[in-house]
Amino acid sequence: VNDEFEQRRHLIGAGLENRELDAMLVVSPASVRYLTGFTGSNGVVLALPGETIFFTDPRYAIQSAREVSCRTQVCKGPLLPDVAAMAARGRIRRLGFERAHLSYDGFDLLRANMPVNASLEPVSGWLEAHRMLKSENEIELIRRSVATNSKAFERAARRVRPGMRERDLAAEIDFRMRRLGAEKPSFETIVAAGERSALPHAHPTGAILKQGQLVLIDMGAFQDGYASDMTRMLFLGEPGARVQRLYRAVLEAQLAAIDAVRPGVTAARVDRAARDVLKAYKLERAFVHSTGHGLGLEIHELPRIGKKDKTPLAAGMAITIEPGVYLEGLGGIRIEDTVVVTRTGCEVLTPTSKELRVV
Ligand code: ZN
Ligand code: ZN
Repeated sequence: VNDEFEQRRHLIGAGLENRELDAMLVVSPASVRYLTGFTGSNGVVLALPGETIFFTDPRYAIQSAREVSCRTQVCKGPLLPDVAAMAARGRIRRLGFERAHLSYDGFDLLRANMPVNASLEPVSGWLEAHRMLKSENEIELIRRSVATNSKAFERAARRVRPGMRERDLAAEIDFRMRRLGAEKPSFETIVAAGERSALPHAHPTGAILKQGQLVLIDMGAFQDGYASDMTRMLFLGEPGARVQRLYRAVLEAQLAAIDAVRPGVTAARVDRAARDVLKAYKLERAFVHSTGHGLGLEIHELPRIGKKDKTPLAAGMAITIEPGVYLEGLGGIRIEDTVVVTRTGCEVLTPTSKELRVV
């Protein structure tokens, strides 16, 4: 049993008093996994000052006995009435809950089963703030997920030909990453050809890849629960001067943002570095999203590398750097790596070349 989970539970238990809570209920699957190692879909955690209790249903009795090292209660029906009963027995007066994750139904169910003198206290971002800083072990898992993702890209990109459909290339990518050890893609693989590459979150369609087109591929794997994320561009044929100039601008912006990453620098400052380069190319209005995001047990985690995020970066954060420009009628270009903040700067985990790949 991995005692990293035990340490995390201890930190949450020890943090209750500062938050004026008697207990904390964790329901979001990624945070439940973070605290227990549980990989199933129905489980919640009740963190008390000296003890953590995991609740699940009988379908997960065998699995949770293998994965979860803390006290476990297997519930016959819905989990939350049992959580409320446990809280009542423990004389919990103030029970914290994840306001972004507990459903309204869940809240009602708790309320109805808690003593009248107990209060439910909304908490935001507590577990997420812990998860933002990765341990050595977690960084190793992200590194492996990134390696698998890049290998899958290489194997799929070799097969790209004019006449292929976006959807077939996306299926090829997903197949390759699973064969290489991923559980699944960390989000729906994006393959967008030609003008469709101007849609930053395009779903792959039956559109056929044609000579003279840009192809945007944004892909990520989940391996041992941890996400990777990468965007690369292909060009079918010889790219013209305009595409080459756009590509250079985005690459420069991406490198400038990576260069800005180091402990103490705010997320907003890194975003600014990418934006300043694109501004010099008069492309700042074509950059319609933030520069990146944290990733880990989820594909999107804190911090957000955006204009308004004042979070100072710290060693151990895993983030993406992914500026892009999107021009209606022409297409879009994005370049994305997964990087880890180190004590002196950052390490780019993604090994894949950032040259515009000509097919
Ligand atoms: Zn991506
Ligand atoms: Zn991303």
